[in-house]
Amino acid sequence: MNAEIEREQLEVDVLLVGGGPASLSAAYHLSRLVETHNEAVSSGKQSGKPLEPVILVIEKGKEIGAHGLSGAVVDPRGFDELLADDATSAPPYDCPVTTDSVHFLTEKRSFRFPVTPPPLRNHGNYLASLGRINRWLGDLCEQQGVEVYAGFPATELLLDGDRVIGARMADSGVGADGQPRDNFEPGMDVIANLTILGEGPRGTLLGQAQKKLGLQQDRQPQIYALGVKEVWKTDRPLEPGQVYHTLGFPLGTKEFGGGFIYTMNDGLIHVGFVAGLDYADPRTDGHRLLQEFKKHPFVEGLLDTAELVAYGAKAIPEGGYYAMPQHQSDGLLITGDSGGFLNAQRLKGIHLAVKSGMLAAETAFEALIKEDFSSATLGNYSTRVENSWIKEELWPVRNFRQAYQSGFWKGVFHTGIQFLTGGRGLKDPLPITPGHEMMQRLEGAGETNSPLDADGKLTFDKLSSVYFADTSHEEDQPSHLKVLNPAVCVKQCAEEFGNPCQYFCPANVYEILSESVSKKLRINFSNCVHCKTCEIMDPYQVILWTPPEGGGGPDWKGM
Ligand code: SF4
Repeated sequence: MNAEIEREQLEVDVLLVGGGPASLSAAYHLSRLVETHNEAVSSGKQSGKPLEPVILVIEKGKEIGAHGLSGAVVDPRGFDELLADDATSAPPYDCPVTTDSVHFLTEKRSFRFPVTPPPLRNHGNYLASLGRINRWLGDLCEQQGVEVYAGFPATELLLDGDRVIGARMADSGVGADGQPRDNFEPGMDVIANLTILGEGPRGTLLGQAQKKLGLQQDRQPQIYALGVKEVWKTDRPLEPGQVYHTLGFPLGTKEFGGGFIYTMNDGLIHVGFVAGLDYADPRTDGHRLLQEFKKHPFVEGLLDTAELVAYGAKAIPEGGYYAMPQHQSDGLLITGDSGGFLNAQRLKGIHLAVKSGMLAAETAFEALIKEDFSSATLGNYSTRVENSWIKEELWPVRNFRQAYQSGFWKGVFHTGIQFLTGGRGLKDPLPITPGHEMMQRLEGAGETNSPLDADGKLTFDKLSSVYFADTSHEEDQPSHLKVLNPAVCVKQCAEEFGNPCQYFCPANVYEILSESVSKKLRINFSNCVHCKTCEIMDPYQVILWTPPEGGGGPDWKGM
C-alpha cells in the first residue's frame, strides 16, 4: 500500500527524532548557537551570513514527556553546561539528594554496606521526574523557535543511496485489517539536511541505520537491562531526597540487577527494579521481580501507608563504550540512549544524553555554516565525544557490564581489577554475548512460574499494573508488534523455552492460548508500554517492535 501513496513532504534543515533529553538539549543548544551567531553577524563582530534553519523535533508520545521514564537521579553536570549562558532557566529538579546508601538483601534481612561505593554516591545530584524535565525542555525549545511536534512517530529512515535524507512518519487511520479507514492520513516525509536520532533505547530508525549503514560493525553488541518502576504516594511525613540502592533478593547470584527507592516531595516514593536482559532462565519476569522486591520487609515498611499512582518499564542500554554504534554517517548523528551514552556502573544516563545532544548541536551548527552534512564534517561529532568528559567518564567503565555476564561474584572480582587498571581489567575488551543468546532452554516441558498471588494493595498482577501506566492505543489498527514467524512461537519456542514472552513482557501483551490440541499466540498490543524488551529478549529474534499510530502508548508525565 505504502508505495502507491502520495505523501506530503516537509522540508527542514535539522530533524530530531525523539522528544527526550538528548534531542531536546540538542535542539535547544543548536538554536542558541544560531542565535549567538546571528547577533554577532548583525553587530558586525563576525563575518558571514545569518542562519535561519528550520529545526524540528518529533516525538511519538501524545505530548512531550509522556514517554519519558527514568529513575531518576540526575547528575546536574549536563544541564549546568546546557544552561551556562542562560541565567533565567533552571531544570525542574524535585529535590537534592540528602542521603544515600546501598543494602544487600537476603530473603528476609537487609545489610547496609558500611560505605557507599563511589559510583553510587549521589551527593550533589538531584531527584527528578524525567517526564517533567522533558516537558520543561520542550517549552524551552519552543521559546527558542524550535518546532516541536508530538504524536509524530517516525517509522522509516529515508535514504538516498547511503545518505540519510530524513524520516517517514507513521500513517494514521489504518484499520486492523490493514486497509485505510475513512480517516486515513498518510504519514508525511520529513526531508532534512541532517537527521539526529535520539529515540531512546533500541530505536526503530537506529535499527534500520545499523542494518543499512553498518553502524554496529566492529562494535560489541548492545546489551540491555529492563527497569520496571512504580511511583507511590503517602500521606505520612517523608523526608525527600533519600536514595536507597539494593543488591541481592529477589535475584540470585547469577543475574545482574538490583532495586532502587527514592523519596521525593509531595510524599512521592519511586520504587523500581532493574534486571539485566541477559539472564539464563526464560521464566525471568521483570514485573514479578519488582512485586517480590516490594514484599521484602526493607521495602514493605516504606509503602505500608502509600498508594500506587504510576507504573512503567523501559529498556536501559548497558553495554557501554565498546557497544556504542558508530555515531555518524552522511546526514545522520546519533545521541542519548540510542547512541549508548549511559554509565551502567553509576546507573545514570541523563547527563550523558544532554552532553551528547550538545555535542551533536555543535556539530550540526558547524555543518550549517559549512553547508556540508557529509560524514566528513559530521565525523567531528565523534572527535568531540572523544575529547569530552563523556569519554573520560565511560572509558574507565568500558568493561564493567561485560564482567557480570559470568555471575555476580565474578563481576565484583573483575570490577575490582578494572578499578585498579583504569578499566582494562584482565582482558580488554572483555567479550559480551547478546542477551537473548544467554537464555537457556527449559529442562522439562511445562515448567512455569508459580502464581504471583498479588494482593492489589502492595503487589499487582500485570494487567492491574498496566492500568497505572495509563497506556492507550487506537484499537482499530494493525498490531505494532510484528511476529515475523508465529509458527515458531506456538511450537518450537513453546517446547524449548516455554514462551518467555509471557514472562519478560511487563505489560501482559503476549498470551499463549490453548485451543483444544493446539496453541495460539494472542497479542494484546494496546497494553504495550513501549519498553522494547520483546525485541531484545525473544530467543528467535522474530519480534519486531514498530511505532504505532501517533500518540499511542503510555502517559508518564510524572515519571
Ligand atoms: Fe515491552 Fe514488548 Fe511488552 Fe511492549 S510488547 S510492553 S515493548 S515487552
